[in-house]
Amino acid sequence: NAFAELGLAPELVAAVTDLGYTAPTAVQQKAIPMAMGGAEGAADRFVDLMVSSQTGSGKTAAFLLPVLHTLIRQQQEAYEAAQAEYTRLAAEAAERGEPAPKRPRRQDPTNPRHFKPAVPGALVLCPTRELAQQVAHDAIDLVRHVRGLRVANVVGGMPYQLQIARLQNANLVVATPGRLLDLQRSMQIKLDQVQFLVVDEADRMLDLGFSDDLAEINQLTIERKQTMMFSATFAPRIQQLAARVMREPQRVQI
Ligand code: AMP
Repeated sequence: NAFAELGLAPELVAAVTDLGYTAPTAVQQKAIPMAMGGAEGAADRFVDLMVSSQTGSGKTAAFLLPVLHTLIRQQQEAYEAAQAEYTRLAAEAAERGEPAPKRPRRQDPTNPRHFKPAVPGALVLCPTRELAQQVAHDAIDLVRHVRGLRVANVVGGMPYQLQIARLQNANLVVATPGRLLDLQRSMQIKLDQVQFLVVDEADRMLDLGFSDDLAEINQLTIERKQTMMFSATFAPRIQQLAARVMREPQRVQI
């Protein structure tokens, strides 16, 4: 599968293979390596991206795959650090002639019951409820071979309690801006852990009057994060929005 050449985690390559994707589309081919920062670990912070893309181009996977890839890698690193710490504690205990400390119950790198992921997570903003549901659905398809990465969908018109229950332990949240801010204001969700922010269909976001909501959400997230904006055009008003929420974004034009 040609997706393997993009350097994506094997769990993700397996998922796209299941979905019948044999090769990346043009926008995926260009955006995924840029979003992943070229050489691994090359940058201390991933670059911001502004991508022109139409529905049907494969844009959803173009942002979901690199974000999920990095979340998987970070979870693996956190697991390995926890393992190394255990080994150290066990050696110290042996030196003192004490029994080894208790291990996490099973050696499962991604089981969230065993340890909290060290990584905060990712947020995808969509202009409409229908689009947010579609994107969340696509994300769930892509994480089917990944254990312990959870996807939650936050949209208006869904029962509030049910959404809150599903938000627990979510690593990736797909939301419409209004409902997300409602949950933030009622302290059901904290956005200061978001390291990846995706704005999907930015042109429709502006049409629907979400510009200030986007700026507010951006303010609530950490400064050192990666932001990716997808839009059908790079019209001046989109560039104004980009300047509000991104730092020196690189452009991807298909
Ligand atoms: P999107 O532009 O994200 O709405 O995607 C349009 C459609 O293309 C969706 O049904 C995807 O499942 C499908 N798709 C995305 N990437 C690929 C790919 N690399 N190969 C085949 N189909 C794809």
